Amino acid sequence: MPKAAVMSAPRKAIEVRDFPSPDLESGAVLLDTIASEVCGTDVHLHHGRLAGVPFPIIPGHVSVGRIHALRDVSTDALGAPLAEGDVVTFYDVHGTCGQCWYCLVARQPNRCPSRRVYGITFSADDGLLGGWAEQIYLKPGVLIVKIPDGLSADDVIGGGCGLFTGFGAVERGDIPLGGTVLVQGAGPVGLASAAFAALRGAARVILIGAPQGRLDLARRLGADDVFLLESTSPHERETAVRDLTQGRGVDVAIEAAGNPAAVPEGLRLLRDGGTYVIAGHYTDVGPVSLNMHTDVNRKHAQVRGQWGTDFTHVARALALLARHRDRLPFADVIGARYGLQDAGRALADVEALRVTKAVIMPNGTAA
Ligand SMILES: [Zn+2]
Ligand SMILES: [Zn+2]
Repeated sequence: MPKAAVMSAPRKAIEVRDFPSPDLESGAVLLDTIASEVCGTDVHLHHGRLAGVPFPIIPGHVSVGRIHALRDVSTDALGAPLAEGDVVTFYDVHGTCGQCWYCLVARQPNRCPSRRVYGITFSADDGLLGGWAEQIYLKPGVLIVKIPDGLSADDVIGGGCGLFTGFGAVERGDIPLGGTVLVQGAGPVGLASAAFAALRGAARVILIGAPQGRLDLARRLGADDVFLLESTSPHERETAVRDLTQGRGVDVAIEAAGNPAAVPEGLRLLRDGGTYVIAGHYTDVGPVSLNMHTDVNRKHAQVRGQWGTDFTHVARALALLARHRDRLPFADVIGARYGLQDAGRALADVEALRVTKAVIMPNGTAA
């Protein structure tokens, strides 16, 4: 009987429960979980700040596992052969219908109402559909990707969902080759945004965030200039960013802070005609006051939201990670590893910013 850590309701203690061993329907794959992440979304889930969550749930959306069994599945989503024992990850979004107005007309499947997400919008009553579990049941149609040669489970889970969200945010920003980029926030999304912005060919990547340990990681991942949020004033940061951009401001700014106060500052630090991507407001943290004349209209700014990720981000981020592993040491972002019974402590450590990337290892924490 596989065990899983269950979030039964917001603010309730995480409990470990036994689940029946699943029977595999045709097209399904069962994983022995190697690692699953704890991300800011899990903290928001635990605070009850996400709508439409069918508690009880098994949290853990991005995960890496070893194939325990598979039924009528011979390749991953990219065509690579799959067999028992292979180490894989999977796109956490499942059930996008391909038939609704958003899927067909707007071509915006990330707003498809049928879309479900492992570890977030699947109920634990429906089985092992989250990563904080000894086994994960991948329903027919879940998009699986074999971990590319040369990459470890740690390389992938160290970036976690931030890897794919940051990749998506960088693309959404259309960063010009040789351009300047500001990233606000040094959590996993901010770190991945800085890393992919540098890889994409930005001439300068500036990051504002906290705490100091995360800024050191940001430098290793590709940020050129970092500013510690609590030891600089907004005015000091504005002066510094203007000095670094000949007074103009950056071409592209990416908000990965999840704090409304970041938005007016980000717009102020954007050059005229620049692009601002909002990727950090995954939950409703309230409104913010902007001056539409100076910050948007006269500035001729483009403001774009980034909601979730598409499979294309997963596939291409992993390909890039495999190609540039030496420049993208995401395994080093892992701050601590926890067993299933310590999932509650992992959540508390992430909430308190004690660790950047906490990893749940349901079958043992030996890497
Ligand atoms: Zn749809
Ligand atoms: Zn996440």
